[in-house]
Amino acid sequence: MPNVFEPAASGRSKCRGCSRPIARGELRFGERLPNPFADGEMTIWFHPLCAAYKRPEPLQQALAETQDPIPDRERLDDAARRQLAHRRLPRISGVERAPSGQAKCRSCREPIERGGWRIRLVFYEEGQFAPGGFVHLACAKNYFETGDIVEPLLHFSPDLSNGERNELRSFLA
Ligand SMILES: [Zn+2]
Ligand SMILES: [Zn+2]
Repeated sequence: MPNVFEPAASGRSKCRGCSRPIARGELRFGERLPNPFADGEMTIWFHPLCAAYKRPEPLQQALAETQDPIPDRERLDDAARRQLAHRRLPRISGVERAPSGQAKCRSCREPIERGGWRIRLVFYEEGQFAPGGFVHLACAKNYFETGDIVEPLLHFSPDLSNGERNELRSFLA
């Protein structure tokens, strides 16, 4: 079966991209995958924008294949296209202040100081996003090969204050 867009029948499905619930009636994107535990397929669900950032290829393909009216179609298509321009961008899973000084940056290999901004990475494999370590905010451009990361970065960091968002926007500008 092809990937789908459909309104969520209940409020019980969780977005695989951001781990938050998908509200009942809200449009959701379902990626179909072979079921690793049984015959047949399984569906993993996303908010459409979360899929555009973390699964841009199937989202873009599904958009191209549906005639249905999709809210924000252009924005979704544009977000997916930007994510596909650099192969590491779909690994972005938000930004946070390091709670300790133990993690090393995957770009420069230096420790990330306690309290410093770090970007969370995830690696996608067979329907799962596994934690993939961190990079310094200052190493983002080296690691992602572009500085154009603010939208997905803030999208997956819903708990930041407006002040923190502004700080990050101006740092990345
Ligand atoms: Zn989501
Ligand atoms: Zn670094």
